[in-house]
Formats: sequence, C-alpha cells, structure tokens
Amino acid sequence: MRAVTVVGAGLAGWHAVRELRDQGFDGTITVIGAEPQRPYDRPPLSKRFLRGEIDEAELALADEAELAEVDAHWRTGRRAVRLDRHTRTVELDDGTLIASDGVVIATGALARTLPGLTDVAGVHTLRTLADARALRTALTEGTPRTVVIGAGFVGAEVAATCHALGLPVTVVEALDVPLARVLGPTVGAICGELHRDHGVTMHCGFGVAGLRTEPNRGDGAGGDTDRTGSTRVTAVLGRDGRELAADVVVIGIGSRPAVDWLAGSGVDIADGVGCDAGGATALPGVVALGDVARYADPAGGSRRHEHWTAAVEQAPVAVRTLLTGRSRGESGTDPVPNRVPYFWSDQYSTRIQLAGHPDADDDLAVVEGSFADRDFVSVYRRQGRLTGVVAMNRGRCFTRLRRELRAEVERAVESSPAAST
Ligand code: FAD
Repeated sequence: MRAVTVVGAGLAGWHAVRELRDQGFDGTITVIGAEPQRPYDRPPLSKRFLRGEIDEAELALADEAELAEVDAHWRTGRRAVRLDRHTRTVELDDGTLIASDGVVIATGALARTLPGLTDVAGVHTLRTLADARALRTALTEGTPRTVVIGAGFVGAEVAATCHALGLPVTVVEALDVPLARVLGPTVGAICGELHRDHGVTMHCGFGVAGLRTEPNRGDGAGGDTDRTGSTRVTAVLGRDGRELAADVVVIGIGSRPAVDWLAGSGVDIADGVGCDAGGATALPGVVALGDVARYADPAGGSRRHEHWTAAVEQAPVAVRTLLTGRSRGESGTDPVPNRVPYFWSDQYSTRIQLAGHPDADDDLAVVEGSFADRDFVSVYRRQGRLTGVVAMNRGRCFTRLRRELRAEVERAVESSPAAST
C-alpha cells in the first residue's frame, strides 16, 4: 500500500494517522478535514473552553513536533463530497480528486438540530470549535437567559457551564427522567437533582413546539451580530402552551453520523458506516472508526460508540485491518475494541462515569458511597450478570470495577459460539 487518505481530521482521524506510522506505513498520508483547524479535542468545548478557562491552542491534540513527525499532507478547510468505490478516489468540495490504495473514514458526527431553526439568531448547537466560540461569545454578552433543549451529556454540561458563569439557565427535556435510557431511571433522576440543586430550572416531559422569534436588530444580543436581518429567538414554546423566555437557546438533542458524502459509494451508511468488529467496511481497502462508525458487536448486533475512548481504541484495530488487507468478516488477530465502552461527563464539580452496556431496567446496586450524597459507585446487573458500572466521583473504585467488568465480558465472549466469528 503506497497511499492512504484519511477523511476527517478529528480525534479518530488523528489517531488513525499516528497508528499508520506506528504500524510501519511509510507511504503518503493525506488528511482531509472540513474544519480549518488541525485535530483538536472536543470534550473541553462544553466545559473548560466554554467557561473561558483555556484557549484554543490548548485544545490541540498534537503539537508541531508530532505533526511534523507523522509527515502527512493536510487538506483542512476542505470537505470530502464523494467516494468512488472502484478507484477509492475521494472528491473534495473544490473538485480535487485524491486517489489512494486505502481510505480511512473518520468524519465523526454532526449536531442534530430542530427543523427550520438554522438561521435564527441566538440559537446554537455545540459540535465544533466554531460553535463553541459563537456560544461562548453569546454567553459573555450581558446576562442572557439561556434555555438548553435536551438534558443529554452535552446539554447538561452547557447548563453546568452557564451556572458557573452566573447565568440563569433552564433545561427542557422530553423524557420524564433525564438520561434514563443511558443510565436508568435511578441515576438519571439523580442527574436531574444535580441541576436543580444548583439552581438550574429543569422541565422534564417537556415537548418543544417551536420558538418565538422577532426580527433581529443585530445589536449583538445572543452573540449573533453577524446575523442582522434574520430573526432572533425570544422564547421556547412548549407543546402544552408553556413559554420560556430565552435570549440564547442551545439545542442539545444529540448528533447524526456525517455520512452524506458517502451516498452511492457502496458503503453501508444506515445509522453510521457499517463495519465488522475490526473496522472493515463493505468496500475492500476502506475502514471506518470513531463517531461515524457502527461496529459489529461480537455478542450480536452493531452499534455506534460516540465516545472519546472508543475512537482511540478503534484506531489500532482499524489501521491493522487496512494495512493487512483484511476484508469484512475475515477474522483478525486484534482484540475487539468497544467491548466495554466508557465515557465520562463533568457537570458542576461532579464527574459522572459509565462503563458497559446497561439496559435502563437492569438491577442497580450501590457498591460504595451513597445516592443521597451523589457520591457513589454502582453496578448494573441483568440476570445476575454484570452489565455496567456507573459512578459519581469515586474514580478509584470505578476504575477497579470497570476492569472487573471488562474481564467478565471478555470471558463471556470467549466462551460464546459467536466468539470465533
Ligand atoms: P469528530 O471529533 O467529530 O471529528 C470528525 C471530523 O471530521 C470533524 O473535524 C469534521 O469537521 C470532519 N468532517 C466531517 N465531515 C467531513 C467531510 N465530509 N470531509 C472532511 N471532513 C469532515 N466524549 C466523552 O467520552 N466524554 C466527554 O466528556 C465528551 N464531551 C464532549 C463534548 C462535546 C461538546 C462534544 C461535541 C463531544 C464530546 N464527547 C465526549 C464525544 C467525543 O468528543 C467524540 O466521541 C470524539 O470527538 C469522536 O471523534 P471523531 O474523530 O470520530 O469525530
């Protein structure tokens, strides 16, 4: 293999580039990134960067020496618009064609939004550095009343940041209990209390009907001086007739995989790029990883893992798949990534951590600490089998139980008939 094109210059793309060199690839690497920046870290965008505690330079995933070391050609500020399945040629939005022997798909995800709200001043999503800059500006102009739509992790972190900045903030959530699908009703309810106890107004079971807007005067309120002439948000409207006054609205309703450019390529793009457990796609010489990828689970089914650690764990495996020329479904020798997915979220002074795949109705038992203090480690079990570990703070105990969970899952997979596939 002489040339590899990595599409997506985020966390997954950067780790793929490093892995290519670490695994001995000495050919040409071209990296295409839709954003103008070299790879940067997203988790701080809703936390320390939004609070103004760190600047853009501190988000960089690699310093100049590391960038020089990997010796890649960077085509940042350019979007891939097409992949030719026969020649593995990637077409860019300026018409440039880049042909290579291998393609790494690492285009991540895009923030989901509500229909018809793309050009309303004061309305924000948070996925990119540009989004974070705009939101940070909006939150530092006066004392905006902020409404966060969606109490998922990014929405919850934005609410916590507003609180830290001394701003009035309301969170609306469609579910009766925030995060119930991910953490179950007990821990989800504790997350809701965490907001309320910090003075954040929380409306659960709130269906958003739309926004109230007025002509935008372009006076900078909400951080949108550049959107003069459009409309500006003044309130979030509930389906039950409630109206919540807002100068800034943050839509935190999740993301969708960035796969539009792959339409017609032959890659399976139903809910992310379908891969086997080693990152191989339906096309030879094309692998995927990170938020955009939907990996087969050796225990059955497939899923996307939209977490920092998943992207990092998938990189060595996906790159080995590419460099060894392994096709989809052929067994590889690498350990399967994501068997025990992990993520963290920092809200107020609380770190929430989850490992595993618990279902919302799994049994939950406290191992250390207490729910009442919001300082605990708990395990989820289904029919006696460990399915997950969740913690608020208590990192040491969490790490130990996460290791135990991993060992248990490995044992279960090794002894199952599907393990050999
Ligand atoms: P991305 O980081 O999204 O990178 C994909 C890159 O591809 C982007 O730069 C994008 O511009 C580019 N791209 C897209 N389409 C194209 C195209 N057609 N052509 C060229 N380039 C393209 N995870 C945790 O575990 N803990 C956290 O606390 C946490 N906090 C987060 C906070 C925020 C605000 C966000 C947005 C995410 C957070 N995450 C967190 C998730 C974590 O950041 C992601 O899982 C991780 O960034 C995934 O990396 P990726 O490279 O797959 O995708």
